[in-house]
Amino acid sequence: MTALRVAIVGFGKIARDQHVPAIAATDGVTLAAIASRHASLPDLPHFNTLDELLRDGPPIDAVALCTPPQVRRDQAAAALAAGKHVMLEKPPGATVSELDPLIASATRAGRTLFATWHSRFAPAVEPARQWLAPRRINSVSISWKEDVRVWHPGQGWIWEPGGLGVFDPGINALSILTRILRQPLFVTAAELCFPANREAPIAARLSLADAAGLPIAAEFDFRQTGPQSWDILVETDGGPLKLSGGGARLVAGGEVLVDAAEAEYRGLYRRFVELTATGTSDVDLTPLRLVADAFMLGRRQIVEAFED
Ligand code: NAP
Repeated sequence: MTALRVAIVGFGKIARDQHVPAIAATDGVTLAAIASRHASLPDLPHFNTLDELLRDGPPIDAVALCTPPQVRRDQAAAALAAGKHVMLEKPPGATVSELDPLIASATRAGRTLFATWHSRFAPAVEPARQWLAPRRINSVSISWKEDVRVWHPGQGWIWEPGGLGVFDPGINALSILTRILRQPLFVTAAELCFPANREAPIAARLSLADAAGLPIAAEFDFRQTGPQSWDILVETDGGPLKLSGGGARLVAGGEVLVDAAEAEYRGLYRRFVELTATGTSDVDLTPLRLVADAFMLGRRQIVEAFED
């Protein structure tokens, strides 16, 4: 089998930290080019924009779009129109509906559109799903609190419309939640805290439920200094289950079941290679819909201005 030739588009934090090493470590995929306005890698074809890459670049099979959500739709449409498979960073878009024409276009072209949820590939997520499957769940609480100055320094797009603010990491918790619980969930209440000088929330509190009224509480906060938390606690008839470290560690039934180094992006690229073999798409919009609903239902509070 020849390796899938991937070009990375947008060469910021996630492209450097995760995509480049994951491609290097995954069989069946190779990094063929970069499209970036500011960055390049030695010995690799470089283009300023995706359009230039598609017009003048070496042959590629796929693009990995590592740009902010606000600009990804146009890039995905252009790449699909050029016959390329497309991997989308999370969140898959700046709106929910913009994904529909992309899905249709991928289907028409027989190409893969892969909306990634990297946290679902964390090592403890699948074991947590299996542990919960036979048990009765009584309640869920999520605490996703991190220091935006540490994890997103200078990322102005996160504060712009479509950047999602604290939901940029918070949607990872929702992607895990909607994977480990089988039943459909919906938002019942939301409080969103907007800094006086920003267009996206710096903190949010959500209540969610399932059709049977399962209580789910989620707290997201970008103002956390000191210990950071990426935790999901599930109370069940078999005792508590705690997923921590964003899905790296699982304690359930009083035992440590998983405590593993993360390898999420290698899992993503393995899945991408699998999907492209048949031109199948994988686009689950459930976490994005929950965030959109939080914006629809949320009470807004204006809080202290945020300066980077
Ligand atoms: P970032 O460091 O700001 O990088 C984004 C890159 O996109 C920039 O370096 C820039 O690349 C390009 N870009 C920015 N604005 C653009 C525009 N208006 N038009 C075209 N290109 C633009 O952000 P990031 O942290 O890598 O995040 C990118 C995506 O990955 C986000 O959706 C985020 O949620 C997701 N993600 C991030 C993390 C994380 O830990 N940071 C983890 C998982 C997923 P060039 O200068 O190269 O053109």
